Amino acid sequence: MRKHMGRTACLIISMLLLLSGCGGEGSTGASEEFFAMDTYMRITVYGDDAEEMAEEAKDEIERIEALLSITGESEIAVINAEGEGDVSDETRGVLERAIEIGKLTEGAFDITIYPVVDAWGFFSGDYRVPDEEEIGELISHTGIENISISDDNSVTFAQQGMGIDLGGIGKGYAGQRVHDLLADYGVSSALMELGGNVCLLGAKPDGSLWRVGIMSPFDDSERIGVIEAEDVSIVTSGGYQRYFMEDGVVYHHIIDPSTGFPADNGLASVTVVCSDGLLADALSTALFVMGEDGACSFWKENGGFEMLLVTDDERIIVSSGVADFFQPEDGYITEVVSR
Ligand code: ADP
Ligand code: MG
Repeated sequence: MRKHMGRTACLIISMLLLLSGCGGEGSTGASEEFFAMDTYMRITVYGDDAEEMAEEAKDEIERIEALLSITGESEIAVINAEGEGDVSDETRGVLERAIEIGKLTEGAFDITIYPVVDAWGFFSGDYRVPDEEEIGELISHTGIENISISDDNSVTFAQQGMGIDLGGIGKGYAGQRVHDLLADYGVSSALMELGGNVCLLGAKPDGSLWRVGIMSPFDDSERIGVIEAEDVSIVTSGGYQRYFMEDGVVYHHIIDPSTGFPADNGLASVTVVCSDGLLADALSTALFVMGEDGACSFWKENGGFEMLLVTDDERIIVSSGVADFFQPEDGYITEVVSR
């Protein structure tokens, strides 16, 4: 996938430390650690055949990467190169969900953001700040209404210069697939750490809740607190995860589709807790774009997920469903948003 940056390595290592000791006493777990989808991943499976199950999980991630990545010969890469292409039923399913979430979030989540993300250099690693004119031109080649999927799974664009970027949803989908695959095999306890995405299968082997550390968006050696949960995905998006600096300004990888510039709506990070991993991933990106007020209104109107927002001015806002399961570190005060 894309060029990986050292910062991601720091992030994952901090996350691994936060999660260490999760296994509980007497549990036998097996882990696979690997690099995929442009990030470090670790999958830990508990119970019988744990080793074999962890290998199956890794294979499943790699299979999905080969389908959805923007590089190589993936179905998506072919569409982006040719301007059209045929997709499998599985890829079609992911595209349709992405488009549906794009509508639900009124364009805050937009997989056609591809040419804009590309212009900023986030795919190649050759970072640059495009000028307003270029951004304006590129933005006119985005919008999910410009993607068509025919009955026989052929994907076409209404305009030239369009492309698809599943970077905001792919890891969430992959985590959910692995969760479901392991559950089908009878596994009742597993932990998937896919970069900033955590997907939990069941509870810890001793039956207690997992404790997932939420990192500070301001200092990656610190966490702001812990969420206790079972059998959900916990996905964090933030401008601190991938960025470059030019002339003292930070430019990060989550683009506000309405401006074509990195989203700058008062949030430093967004964590979404949801039993649907794909939705958790897409919403963490979308809510980051929406900002505090937009995210709170969206949660009140739609529900089906819980969230934790960290604002640029270092406030923590949690939705009522997760408030009792979040333990802030000393010094952090949380505000609870209720319906
Ligand atoms: P990460 O994948 O780094 O954990 P996200 O899930 O927030 O973080 O996804 C960000 C990625 O999604 C970007 O690197 C880019 O490829 C893509 N992207 C950026 N802005 C948007 C957007 N508004 N809607 C959908 N995808 C986006
Ligand atoms: Mg996302």
